[in-house]
Amino acid sequence: MGDRFQVIADLDATTTDAARLATRVTAWLAAEGVVLAERTPCVPGRPLGHPPGPHWERAVDDDWDRPPSDGLAVHTGRTGFTSGADLPDAAVCPRCRAVTPLDDTLWPRFHDAMRTWHDAGSATVACPVCAAPVAVPDWTWDDRPLAFAHLGFEFWNWPDLSDTFQARLTTLLDGHRTVYLWGGY
Ligand SMILES: [Zn+2]
Repeated sequence: MGDRFQVIADLDATTTDAARLATRVTAWLAAEGVVLAERTPCVPGRPLGHPPGPHWERAVDDDWDRPPSDGLAVHTGRTGFTSGADLPDAAVCPRCRAVTPLDDTLWPRFHDAMRTWHDAGSATVACPVCAAPVAVPDWTWDDRPLAFAHLGFEFWNWPDLSDTFQARLTTLLDGHRTVYLWGGY
């Protein structure tokens, strides 16, 4: 396998507070020595990221076998986060819990709505079962989830981030809901 990432996305950050929260979390990560404050070309597909710091192991499970080989990309602005190259096969309605396969009829509807969300900041897709208009970020997914957020911390080629670390990072986000995604390319 090639490159692997792990993302902690803040589902409640808005365009107005994403940059402030990104600065707060990055300052904490640098103070802890998890990453370095200065940015270098260290993440795939992005010009700059924060390379691992001297205490990167504070972020990961104890049973790591290889140190991180790349850095942290901090995303601010509307971003659709995926679980890697494979997209979900089904969408789950948060209202009625119906699981709807993402077939050739439904994918284009979601795709258009995702683009509208990216451009305009809001879009809905009607649930095929209960007909409720569901906002794009509120949909849930099968075991290859997506997340639509204004803020995300994307660690490239790191050992598994520990639950403790994820919880500590989340406490800096003003009580916002977060989601953890991982995948590879
Ligand atoms: Zn529904």
